[in-house]
Order: sequence, then C-alpha cells, then structure tokens
Amino acid sequence: MKLLLATQNPNKVIELNRLSHNQLDVVSLHDLNIVEDVEETGKSFEENARLKALWAYQKTGIPCIADDSGLEITALNHEPGVYSARYLGVDTPYAIKNQIILERMQNQLDRSARFISVVCLVLNERDVHCFEGVMSGSIAFEAKGSNGFGYDPIFLPENHALTYAEMDINTKNTLSHRGQAFRKVIAYLESRAEYEK
Ligand code: IMP
Repeated sequence: MKLLLATQNPNKVIELNRLSHNQLDVVSLHDLNIVEDVEETGKSFEENARLKALWAYQKTGIPCIADDSGLEITALNHEPGVYSARYLGVDTPYAIKNQIILERMQNQLDRSARFISVVCLVLNERDVHCFEGVMSGSIAFEAKGSNGFGYDPIFLPENHALTYAEMDINTKNTLSHRGQAFRKVIAYLESRAEYEK
C-alpha cells in the first residue's frame, strides 16, 4: 500500500518502511516534490498531526500519515511540549537549548519527563485515526551522547542508563515514542482489508 508520510525528514520514512518490513511503500513530501509545509497551529500533538495529515491528503489524494512529537518536562510546567521545535528560538542550536534546560533543572527534585508522539492516519476525509506513543523517563544531569537529534542528549528513557543520544538508532527506535506510535499504525493497517501485501 502506498502511503504518504507528511514530512520532509527522510529518516522518518526509512524508519516507517523498516518497521513495516517494507510491506508499506512509504514516500515523503520531498519524494513528491512538494516543498510547502503546513503551519503547526494546533494546541496539542493530536491537533497538529491531524491537520498535517489532512492537509497532505487534500493535496495529493494519497492515504497519508503525519506525526507530531515533543518532550514534556514535569518541573517546567510540561514545557517544551507542543512547542518543542520552537522552544527557546527556532534557530537556537540544540546544544544551547539543552544547556539552558539543564540549568533550569539544576535545583529540581522532580526530573521526570516524557516524549510523546501522535501519528494521524488519513485513509480518506471520513476515515481518520490517531495513535499515541509515550516514552517516560527523566532529564539527565548532563548532556551525553552524539547520536540522534534534538533533546536526545538530555533524555534518559526509564529503566535505561543511557540517554537517547548514547543509544544506536535501532535501540532508540525500538523504545521510542515515535516507534511505538508507528507500530500502532502498522498494526491497525494490517487489521484492515486496505492493507495490500
Ligand atoms: P517532530 O514533530 O517529530 O518534528 O518533533 C518536533 C520537535 O520535538 C523536534 O524538533 C524536537 O525538538 C523534538 N523531538 C521530537 N522527537 C524527538 C526525538 O526523538 N528526540 C529528540 N527530540 C525530539
């Protein structure tokens, strides 16, 4: 089944194809030469995922999925949350954002945090389904590791001694919020007749 993943990020396409054991034919906006992106004006991960997936479906007529993810830190009023990409300035390097977060967390006893991902599937305008993946964990005392992206160096998934950025990509994908949500979409599609092998 051909599925458009409404992203410009080729790594997400690779991850989804791999998780479906290449039973899905996942393409990105970039593959279809679509350069515009939709503004994420929603107040929740689900709202943003839904509006991106519907926008891409309306543009192409191809079944679409879109994801929206972010980090919620309990002691920082659940920031950066839905504003994860824009938090502390869209152009601020993550090395600096992570240092600022570590400073803000210096005297906090509660270091709990979680990554959330909501993936929205649009088969047609009346056939829309959202799936959530959550990885609980905590904010490390220092940034560690150089793999991955974003807040990976400061996030310790629960029951693990390594940050996301210290893990190899396959280990992270096995645990991650987005990996969980992607696996739920694949399981849902497998349960439906539309999922052509
Ligand atoms: P997106 O919705 O996947 O584009 O993620 C939005 C923002 O959340 C990213 O720009 C990152 O700041 C943060 N984020 C989401 N997922 C991850 C992750 O797996 N590791 C680190 N940061 C992430």
